Amino acid sequence: MYTDNHNHTKHFSSDAKMTAQQLIDTCKGLNMYGVAVTEHYEGDYPHDIGAPQIFDLDSYFETGKTWKEYAGDFPVRMGIELGWQKHLPAFYDEMVSKYPFDVVILSNHLFRGKDPYFFRDGYEQDMVSVYTQYIEEMAQMAEDCSNYDIIGHYDYINRYGPYEDPQIRYAHCPEAFDRLFKAIISKGKALEINTRSIDKMRKRGFDSAYSMPDPGILSRYYEMGGRIIAMGSDSHDNDTLCIHFDETARYLASFGFTENSYFVGRTRHGEPLIPNV
Ligand SMILES: [Zn+2]
Ligand SMILES: [Zn+2]
Repeated sequence: MYTDNHNHTKHFSSDAKMTAQQLIDTCKGLNMYGVAVTEHYEGDYPHDIGAPQIFDLDSYFETGKTWKEYAGDFPVRMGIELGWQKHLPAFYDEMVSKYPFDVVILSNHLFRGKDPYFFRDGYEQDMVSVYTQYIEEMAQMAEDCSNYDIIGHYDYINRYGPYEDPQIRYAHCPEAFDRLFKAIISKGKALEINTRSIDKMRKRGFDSAYSMPDPGILSRYYEMGGRIIAMGSDSHDNDTLCIHFDETARYLASFGFTENSYFVGRTRHGEPLIPNV
C-alpha cells in the first residue's frame, strides 16, 4: 500500500467528517505506509459559509502531537492545503516557514473569485475557455509561490463542470499546461494525482476509463521531464482513504512513472508505484 498525501479531519477542516482517530484506525486497517493530514487553510476566503476556513497553527501542531501518540508507530505527517489567491504567495511562503510542516499542498479552489463547489456561474462560459483560464491561474500559482511541495488537484475545475464531456484534457489548453508543468518541474515540486477527482467523475456516472486523468496530460508531463507525482485521496471521510490507489498506481506506471512521493519535514521520499518491480 501507499502513503496518502492529502486528507482532512473535522478538527481543523470545516467540511470534513472524520476524526483523526478514525483516520488513523482506518489507515492502519488498510495497511498503508503512512498518511498526511493536510487541513484547509484559505486566506481571505471570499465566501461566508458559516465556518472559518483558516485555523490556528499553534493549536494544530499541539493537537498533532496527540494524534502521533495515538498512532504509535504508524506515520502521521502534518501538512496543510493552502488555498491560493493572487495576493497571497508572500504571506503563505512566510507563514509556512514558521512551522514544522511535513508537507504543503498548494491548491486553487476559486474560479473568477468563486468556489465552483458552491457557485456554478463561472461555468457559463464555454468549457475550453474556463479550463484554460483555470490552468493559467494554476501556472501563475506554481510560479509565484515557492514554499510548497505539491500542486493539488489540477482537475478541481472539472469536478463540477456541467458539460456533457467535462474531463479536462491536455488538448484543451496545451500552452497553459506546458506553463504549469514547466514551473512544477523547474522548482522540483510534485504534481498531485487526486483520486477524489476520479471518484467524483465515477459518482457522476462516467465510466472507469473516462474518469482517469487524461493520458495527454500525464504523457506531456513525463515528456517535459516531470517525474514527481503524489497520490492523494483528498478524503474528508474515512471511507475514501486511498480510494482507487492501486488502480491509479498501475495507470501511472503505464506512462513510465515509478514512484509515489511522500514528504517528511518537507523532504521528498519515494515509494514504488508497483511494489517488487
Ligand atoms: Zn482542495
Ligand atoms: Zn483537500
